[in-house]
Amino acid sequence: MAISQDLLEILACPVCKAKVELKPDGSGLKCVECKRLYPVRDDIPVMLVDEATTEDDNVSEDEQPARNS
Ligand SMILES: [Zn+2]
Repeated sequence: MAISQDLLEILACPVCKAKVELKPDGSGLKCVECKRLYPVRDDIPVMLVDEATTEDDNVSEDEQPARNS
């Protein structure tokens, strides 16, 4: 993953201004408050409400959870 901790700390959800957490597989950033998931494209976080998804009601099938143990 290429998103640094420093970058994560300055990023915030554009909706509720809460912090976001990088998914374990590095595929997105999840808001801790509203649970929106912002995609990461080419290692660039896309912090746009229009691009965000919510994990609860829509999990795309090509994003199978990675089994890292
Ligand atoms: Zn939020």
